[in-house]
Amino acid sequence: METYNNGFQGIETDLVVVGAGIAGISAALEAAETGFGVLLIEKNPFIGGRVAQLFEYFPKLCPPTCGLEINIRRLRENEKIKLLTLANVKKIEKTEKGLVLEVTQNPRFVNNRCTICGECAKVCPVERPNDFNFGLDKTKAIYIPYENAYPSKYVIDPQYCKFDECKMCLDVCKYNAIDFNEHKQKYRVEARALIWATGWDPYDATRLENLGFGKYPNVITNMMMERLASPFGPTKGEIRIPNFNMELKEVAFVQCAGSRDENHLEFCSTVCCLASMKQAHYIRTQYPDTKIHIFYIDLRANGILEDFYNRTKADPLIEYHRGKVAKVWQNPQNKRLVVEAEDTLSGVLTKKEVDLVVLATGMQPTTSKKIIPLDNIIDDNGFVRNELDGAIIGCGTCVSPKDVASVVQEATGAAMKAIVKIKEAQ
Ligand SMILES: Cc1cc2nc3c(=O)[nH]c(=O)nc-3n(C[C@H](O)[C@H](O)[C@H](O)COP(=O)(O)OP(=O)(O)OC[C@H]3O[C@@H](n4cnc5c(N)ncnc54)[C@H](O)[C@@H]3O)c2cc1C
Repeated sequence: METYNNGFQGIETDLVVVGAGIAGISAALEAAETGFGVLLIEKNPFIGGRVAQLFEYFPKLCPPTCGLEINIRRLRENEKIKLLTLANVKKIEKTEKGLVLEVTQNPRFVNNRCTICGECAKVCPVERPNDFNFGLDKTKAIYIPYENAYPSKYVIDPQYCKFDECKMCLDVCKYNAIDFNEHKQKYRVEARALIWATGWDPYDATRLENLGFGKYPNVITNMMMERLASPFGPTKGEIRIPNFNMELKEVAFVQCAGSRDENHLEFCSTVCCLASMKQAHYIRTQYPDTKIHIFYIDLRANGILEDFYNRTKADPLIEYHRGKVAKVWQNPQNKRLVVEAEDTLSGVLTKKEVDLVVLATGMQPTTSKKIIPLDNIIDDNGFVRNELDGAIIGCGTCVSPKDVASVVQEATGAAMKAIVKIKEAQ
């Protein structure tokens, strides 16, 4: 690696993939296993993206970590892939031969000697909200992002760690794996093609004031439900709200919470109906007597996923209500939540009292937050306009909302397009 006067280290590669969710990992593997060099850039301290936060996958209801583990093994074994976590692309310039990128990498403060023994976290006196679990619990300032996280190393959150004022983790680490002197790295990357695969964020439910998120602890989002159902989540898989007493007799799912709405996300995220059906199954498995109400505008379960819908529809304790939910409020007498919706088939106003409300919030492209340092590459909803810039290829849910199977197919296509670009530039 060359080091420039301005402190930038030089990297030359065929392909840069930004975002190491299932889209980016799949595209990187396809290109690398065909023999091309790939630099995979991820902003988080771990790879896997949102899929790592899911409990089970529809339609088969298997744990997503299985698929991730296979991909991580392929990635670890492939010398053609260089992975930078905690990294961000700051600048992109197009050149005759491809692209030049400026990339910065934040320090992890934990090196490869880490054996994930966890002694550091045991003594760490500082806690931080656990963003992986959407703030439903806390981690220490030195933490492992989740059980099977890769790279398998702890990381220090510099916003919370007291560093030299504390040093308790340094003192207890037998492996010299903690290094407070690590600092930010800067890279100048020359590449022939770029795949942008930065995925999605859950739509901000605090903007849905009428639906009670943030006001009532038993109004949660669909991604919070994934973490509550996970055996590695804040309640070790028991579906309940931490530090909140409730009996789970009835649950309501509010579909299109902030979706297909010109004041929020104008588009349909395509997976939320199936995600709620899947989550209804989580609840029915754990609490066989609990009744589920799914409030919807239209139900969407395309192609072979129709089977999945039919299975939930056959369940007598899952009731579908056609109607957009107008309001969620708390009954002052019994403290249960009241979900109010107008049934768009009968015109009748429905009110259901439930113990838990799950808001099926949609997938907002991360690119809507202007994270690509280039103009004219995103559309009005923030999605990447595929291939607008020739050598830059959008891939996954930052291009349009979709499920994992569709993302993986698109990633193969993106890798093929990138290979054509690389060949053209050679
Ligand atoms: C509630 C819910 C349940 C779901 N359940 C299922 C299911 O059961 N089955 C199914 O098939 N699909 C499901 N999905 C859809 C699934 O989550 C997506 O298809 C999948 O996450 C898309 O992968 P991705 O790689 O495009 O994006 P992501 O998973 O978002 O990955 C993007 C990656 O890019 C990184 N990144 C972001 N910004 C930057 C940046 N600036 N620089 C570098 N890296 C960056 C992120 O940290 C992340 O690692 C569900 C969705 C929801 C909302």
